[in-house]
Amino acid sequence: MVSQNQLTYLKAMGIDAWQTRSSVEAIITVESEVELQSAVQSIVPASSNATEAIKDDVATLDWQTLQQRIANCRACGLHTSRIQTVFGVGNPQADLLIIGEAPGANEDKQGEPFVGRAGQLLNSMLAAIGLQREDVFIANILKCRPPQNRDPKPEETTKCTPYLDRQVALLQPKLIMAVGRIASHYLLQCSTPMGRLRGQRYQFRDTGIPLIVSYHPAYLLRSPQEKRKAYEDLILAKNLIAEVTEAGLTINAKASQ
Ligand code: SF4
Repeated sequence: MVSQNQLTYLKAMGIDAWQTRSSVEAIITVESEVELQSAVQSIVPASSNATEAIKDDVATLDWQTLQQRIANCRACGLHTSRIQTVFGVGNPQADLLIIGEAPGANEDKQGEPFVGRAGQLLNSMLAAIGLQREDVFIANILKCRPPQNRDPKPEETTKCTPYLDRQVALLQPKLIMAVGRIASHYLLQCSTPMGRLRGQRYQFRDTGIPLIVSYHPAYLLRSPQEKRKAYEDLILAKNLIAEVTEAGLTINAKASQ
């Protein structure tokens, strides 16, 4: 059932206020942990000596020290053109971690991910499922802005990944949502079209943390007809978080805290 508040936020998103059973219930068909584990996909990222060095360096860092380490990072060429690093924002105890690809111009200026019109849309989308921006944690794969907002290069994502991995290990979210093609393809190590990736449960590497994908808010601004699907993804996210909470599933994150 959609509440009055949610109706208001759905309207702000440009979505007519009706909700299909099939869009939500048909997605969640996995009923047992055994089936869940067989349904998910393990993802192994590319590796390099530089990445291993960063990984070793950050493996035991706490939240604050990790933030400082990222702020001073010069591991890839993006440090030369950034205004500042963008660590991420939100609740360090969040159930939901949202991951995008990289900071844009506004994010680089403000030091915060998902600001501007895309950020406002994301806030409205979260509100539609009863969450505030402060309830979740929002981060990017890359902590520095690629010039002219070009796609991240493989060597950049590879070097920056240990920071994200450490964030995940410290956050221990109940669910990760990758938003946008770049983040989804990188985190799932695939090139499957977004339309086919949506609506399924994967896992973040070998951590057991569930991962789903959805459209990037910036894409939704250009393609408002897809907002309904993004809303369906958020309903899936909400249901999966409830499922994980109720089942008391143990998250077996690889990295130690
Ligand atoms: S993008 Fe990541 S690896 Fe590259 S300089 Fe910024 S923080 Fe370091």
